[in-house]
Amino acid sequence: MSELLDRHRAVMPNWMPVYYGDDALEIVSGSGRRVTAADGRTYLDFFGGVLTTMIGYDVAEISDAVRRQIGTGVAHTSTLYLIRQQVELAEKIARLSGIPDARVFFTNSGTEANESALLMATNVRRSNQILAIKNSYHGRTFGTMAITGHRTWSSSSLSPFTVNWLASADRLRGRMARLSDADLIEAAVDDLREVLATVTAGDVAALIAEPIQGVGGFVAGPDGLLGAYRKVLGEHGILLIADEVQTGWGRTGDHFWGYQAHDVVPDLITFAKGIGNGFALGGVVGSATVMNAVPAISFSTFGGNPISAAAGNAVLDYVLDHDLQGNARRVGTILLDGLRALDHAIVGQVRGRGLMIGIEFVRPGTTEPDPGATLRVFDLCRAGGLLVGKGGLHGNVLRIGPPLTLTEEEAREGLTVLADAIAVADGESVF
Ligand code: PMP
Repeated sequence: MSELLDRHRAVMPNWMPVYYGDDALEIVSGSGRRVTAADGRTYLDFFGGVLTTMIGYDVAEISDAVRRQIGTGVAHTSTLYLIRQQVELAEKIARLSGIPDARVFFTNSGTEANESALLMATNVRRSNQILAIKNSYHGRTFGTMAITGHRTWSSSSLSPFTVNWLASADRLRGRMARLSDADLIEAAVDDLREVLATVTAGDVAALIAEPIQGVGGFVAGPDGLLGAYRKVLGEHGILLIADEVQTGWGRTGDHFWGYQAHDVVPDLITFAKGIGNGFALGGVVGSATVMNAVPAISFSTFGGNPISAAAGNAVLDYVLDHDLQGNARRVGTILLDGLRALDHAIVGQVRGRGLMIGIEFVRPGTTEPDPGATLRVFDLCRAGGLLVGKGGLHGNVLRIGPPLTLTEEEAREGLTVLADAIAVADGESVF
């Protein structure tokens, strides 16, 4: 156990998760898609700090933009003054959002972005009723925890909202797994109608949904599901909030935003993580009617500060100039195809889109979750020089979300480590 881990445990609250237990990793430097840890080893990074290092480490264009801002001597004063970088970034995001007459409000995190979206939606609708999806994750504040449908993260049973839950589209087990895409959409819409007609009387502020559930283990409904929901919501004036904190900026390959797979345009989109490539930046983009609906002044000291906004502009330009969405699609396909070709009894499902890929582990011959095998593969990957993530309701999904700059060679290198790790864990499986 490292000296730093000892100190971490002595000073941090005991509920803070750290990967790799007694072998916790301290990353001390990075370059491209690789990080070097205090143990002297270099790792290929297939998780990017939970889909946050979206461009990669030590990227000149981004570091230079941030250095230029620091070079002015002003890290930040206040958003009460005009910030050129912030306005420029807002213009770009508004244009890319797909929302007509869009407005942007910057925050420092995804949690805050969702909290702000909820504030706007509940105000414009004069209702505190929210529809959320089971197995979702939206943040760590009182409000966002209340709409997080994932037992590991729902540590408060108190709620400022009245929340009604819609099913998550699990295609491996349960009712949803047995349905075709079209039948699933029909069943989901029937459920929504029933919830609206019975418990809510239609007086609902918004439905919030991740186009692909992130922390929940990269679970996605069929294309068009959110659009089908939207038709029903529209009958009642209920807003749709797309939480694009993990799915935005081209990560899913086929689309720039996750919602675009659903034949719908949301009223509000929340974003964070990748847009800062490590700098704290999040926000909400939405239609002017909803965004302007907060009755009192709302404000963030640091939201869209010059350094984060400089990073955000450089990141967004990089994504567009280098067609990282196209790269996510191409390289993601190599990874997906490679993983799907593996034939192991402990692999229950390989799913995903672009560079957002989940591998769900099960007890052989069943759909019963196997978190033990998952942990084993996770540890073996690290031993083989590859960092991946874990997640899912049952802790049995490996999450792959590398920087969008991942090369084909790196994809194949990671695939080899993953294939070896899965083969070893499969061989050890006692079932
Ligand atoms: N929404 C989603 C979909 C997320 O994955 C996360 C973070 N895991 C959040 C919101 C919260 O973002 P943050 O950690 O920046 O507050």
